[in-house]
Amino acid sequence: MIQIKSKDEIEVMRQAGRIVAETLAMVSDELKPGMTTKQLDKLVEDFIRSKKAVPAFLNYHGFPASACISVNEEVVHGIPGGRIIEEGDIVSVDVGSIFEGFYGDSARTYAVGEISDEKRKLMDNTEKSLLAGIDKARNGNKLGQISAAVQNVAESEGYGVVRQLVGHGIGRNMHEEPQVPNYGSPNEGPTLKTGMVIAIEPMINCGTYQVKTLPDGWTIVTADGRPSAHFEHTVAITENGPDILTVV
Ligand code: MG
Ligand code: MG
Repeated sequence: MIQIKSKDEIEVMRQAGRIVAETLAMVSDELKPGMTTKQLDKLVEDFIRSKKAVPAFLNYHGFPASACISVNEEVVHGIPGGRIIEEGDIVSVDVGSIFEGFYGDSARTYAVGEISDEKRKLMDNTEKSLLAGIDKARNGNKLGQISAAVQNVAESEGYGVVRQLVGHGIGRNMHEEPQVPNYGSPNEGPTLKTGMVIAIEPMINCGTYQVKTLPDGWTIVTADGRPSAHFEHTVAITENGPDILTVV
C-alpha cells in the first residue's frame, strides 16, 4: 500500500530533507584528503543532531554509523572506519534524518581534489540520470517512466545500472512502498499520484552492473572493481510536478 502524504506532512518532510541537504553541503566543505571515513561520519552525526534531528541510519538494522560512506569501487552502504580518503578518490555519502517523525534521505558523490576523466564523467552521468528520473515523477505517470529515464541516460553512455538495490517510498519510515528501480519498462509499476513521496537513487557503475557484498555484511562493491557513483533525492509528487525535498 502506497502512503499518500498530506500537504502538511510534506512540509514536515521538507524540513527533514533540508537538514539532510545542509548536512551534505557541510560534507562538501569538510571533505579533505587525509581524513578517515570515520572522522567524516562523526561530523555528519554531530551536524544532524545540532539541527534537533536524529541520524536515520544509525542502528538501522544494526548499521553502526550515521552516514554510509562508499569510496571508489564501493557502491553503497560503506561502513565508516579507518579508510583514509585520498586525492583522486570519489566518495559517495548517503545521509538520512528523522525530524518530527518523518524521514529525509539523500546522497551525493564527491570528488576529492583532482579526479580522473573516467570518474568525472561517471559522476556527471549519474547526476544527470537522477534529474531525468525526477522529471518523470509526475501525477499520472507510471513509476516505470522514472526507471526507464534513469536507465536510458546511464546506458546511452555505456554505464552499468545497478539492479540489486533500488529507490523507495519514504515517509514515517525510511523504506516504504513502492520500490523505485533504476531500470525497466516505462509501462511498468503503479501510477504515480499527488502526495506520494519517493527516494530516487541511481547507483551507476563504470563497468558491469553486477555487484557483490563484502564480508562485513554491508558494503556493496562493484563486481569488477571499477568505480561507482550514487546520487539520491527525496521527491514529492505534487499538483505542480516533482518537488525535491532534499534541498537547502
Ligand atoms: Mg539514501
Ligand atoms: Mg534511499
